[in-house]
Amino acid sequence: MSALLLTNIAQLLTLRGSHAPRRGHELRALGIIEDAAVLSVGGKVVSVGSRKDAARDAWVKKAEVLEIDCRNGVVMPGFVDAHTHPAFVSPRLVDFEKRIEGATYEEIAAAGGGIRSSISGVREAKKTELTAKIVSALNQMSAQGTTTVEAKSGYGLSLESEIKSLEAIRDAARQWPGTVVPTLLGAHIVPPEFKDRAEEYVRMVCEEMIPQVAKKKLAEFVDVFCERSAFSVEQSERVLEAALKHGLPVRAHVWQLSPAKLDSLYRFKPASFDHLDCMSDGDVAMLSKTDTIATLVPGANFFLGLKEYPPARKLIEAGAAVALASDFNPGTSPTVSMPFALSLACTQMKMSAEEAISAATINGAWSLRMAERKGSIEPGKDADLAIFGVRDYREIPYWFGCETCSGVVMNGELRLNA
Ligand SMILES: [Zn+2]
Repeated sequence: MSALLLTNIAQLLTLRGSHAPRRGHELRALGIIEDAAVLSVGGKVVSVGSRKDAARDAWVKKAEVLEIDCRNGVVMPGFVDAHTHPAFVSPRLVDFEKRIEGATYEEIAAAGGGIRSSISGVREAKKTELTAKIVSALNQMSAQGTTTVEAKSGYGLSLESEIKSLEAIRDAARQWPGTVVPTLLGAHIVPPEFKDRAEEYVRMVCEEMIPQVAKKKLAEFVDVFCERSAFSVEQSERVLEAALKHGLPVRAHVWQLSPAKLDSLYRFKPASFDHLDCMSDGDVAMLSKTDTIATLVPGANFFLGLKEYPPARKLIEAGAAVALASDFNPGTSPTVSMPFALSLACTQMKMSAEEAISAATINGAWSLRMAERKGSIEPGKDADLAIFGVRDYREIPYWFGCETCSGVVMNGELRLNA
């Protein structure tokens, strides 16, 4: 069994002791140990403590321990990026340029951009090509400290190409030492060939796509884009109901572009509601009383040049369990950087550095229902660690756009950045 000792850590953020998703003041408790060390054996954290304690550990006396000097830096749980769309082929540069020129959504689509271009890219791509793109994204993510990634399909939007996307996610996950949680987002938008036949598409998703994906065990969650321009509340209910019927828990894109009354969705016990830009105070109060995690993705607001961001402070003050994610996707958030998401959380949504770090680690893990294994550094948990070349954890969001991550440990496997 491979043993790894990370030592000479100025600040070790353990985020220990979360027996439920973190809310309110709990988001500020990072469980910091100074002058620390972490020992992992066989992919699991074995001991966490001061450097002196580590030196006394029986394992450390054995010759086969690989010792890594963290050079008086910060070590924290690897980021749990609980909302990404990596199954696409090409960047959307038409969207990018047209949006700079002030074009509308319709004008972008007319110029050959928009989600349609991603759909045709995925449909035409070979599975191996898609897999290679996803592996490349996963490697870029881990270079910036991410060790667990939720990865959605959703640019194929046919039975065949959604299955191809999920198989590509599975194949990519096998080539990356971190952990990937696949999600079926067959209900992303109504694909062009079903224009004016949305009902028929929803029926296909519920009666063919979800059952086949469940049978092939290609996804761990089902997601739906509940929005006027995508799927109605009633259609979303049917998608979520079909998912549960086939044993798949659910999450949803909600309140991104417009307000909506979503009380009826809570009966599906969604693991997470994501985006939340347009939620009302009443929605905040209601969400805060549930176990559904509030996942915020400020990268999308930033890239679209929006002045408004989701109501993070209201959510935290109301007691909602807030998570942060990159929303990596080619249209609205082409970034793999969780440190940048933290910077946006702090500067645009007025979250403290501590709140942002909890949201991007342990609460992300809760939203993926893997908090028993991920999101904190505690004995028995998976050895998923991120090493930063800074002295103080607040520097991680402070140095925005800078790459301060110097390496990660993913399920016990060390990968240092060049
Ligand atoms: Zn999304």
